[in-house]
Amino acid sequence: MRVLLVEDDAMIAEALQGALKDASCAVDRVGDGAAALDALAGQHYDLMLLDLGLPRRDGVEVLRRLRERGSALPVLVITARDGLEDRIGGLDAGADDYLVKPFEVAELLARMRAVLRRKSGSASPVLDNGELRLDPATHEACRQGREAVLLSRREFALLQALMRRPGAILSRAELEDRVYGWGEEVESNAVEFLIHALRRKLGSDAIRNVRGAGWMVAKAG
Ligand code: CA
Repeated sequence: MRVLLVEDDAMIAEALQGALKDASCAVDRVGDGAAALDALAGQHYDLMLLDLGLPRRDGVEVLRRLRERGSALPVLVITARDGLEDRIGGLDAGADDYLVKPFEVAELLARMRAVLRRKSGSASPVLDNGELRLDPATHEACRQGREAVLLSRREFALLQALMRRPGAILSRAELEDRVYGWGEEVESNAVEFLIHALRRKLGSDAIRNVRGAGWMVAKAG
């Protein structure tokens, strides 16, 4: 999952980036509103964490522009402003939820999962295609009739990308995009390596290769 982190306080941004990477997210980080709009125009994200008080266009304006373009990107506002008006302003401008700083990382991650779940229209937190189950809260995957196995950060990120779109073929570039953020070095065979590791844990036919096109997991039913 690829996250855009928009936060101008370098210490908070650094800490959040580390925590999100530990939670298997590919993270791109920008420090002002104009850079956020540039990033949103050039890259597909699964979620944005947005500070409201930002230089060069504040968070509410970023949000308004995003929604004006018709984007349904899940947005979680993180703000030091704890005034009721600011929170209402953020929600009215199109935020899906908000957190007031300071907050615990565990709560941030839980709220991110909840926002993604609501946006996908699914009541259940667990991704399930009938063959495989993947739990975003524990990073455990389970093949039908077998014991659950714990996935590494990048194994989880890759399988999550496939499980969120069962039946769709994702190319190498699309998978790399969901696993690696800006500035993270991608080895040339990184995707194959992760697929190999996942198949060893979950069974060789858990992830299908479509020659020349990419990889997929089966669609339920
Ligand atoms: Ca700020």
